[in-house]
Amino acid sequence: MLSISKLIFKLEYLSKIMAEGKFATSVSCIDGRIQTPLTNWIKENYSVDYVDTVTEPGVDKNIAKDSIIESIKTKARISIHAHKSELIVFSGHYDCAANPVSNEEHIEFIKKGVEVISSWNLGVKIVGVLVDESWNVNTV
Ligand SMILES: [Zn+2]
Repeated sequence: MLSISKLIFKLEYLSKIMAEGKFATSVSCIDGRIQTPLTNWIKENYSVDYVDTVTEPGVDKNIAKDSIIESIKTKARISIHAHKSELIVFSGHYDCAANPVSNEEHIEFIKKGVEVISSWNLGVKIVGVLVDESWNVNTV
């Protein structure tokens, strides 16, 4: 049973969060062409107000590199803790300068990357997506 004071505290906490808006986290390539499609897709599909962006060139491939993992993990943790993000969208994209492979190969990289991020046990949902040649976002 919730005491009245605990209930009031919870309601105040909830209204504070609602007032500040809901956040999600995008882990993507630095490419400027994909940021707007990704942000809009995440907002529309997950009812969030803002999307924090963690970028690294060719992140779908490069997340497997030890030198890059720690940096991405640290940035994602800040988004999760400071903004209460409950979702990480991990992406790869068509025509990536840092990872110039076919869409099929991107999909394999994205699936592996989702496993890598899952292994960090951040307690958030993780979704893998491919941004295709029409700049549409597709769940992998
Ligand atoms: Zn790229």
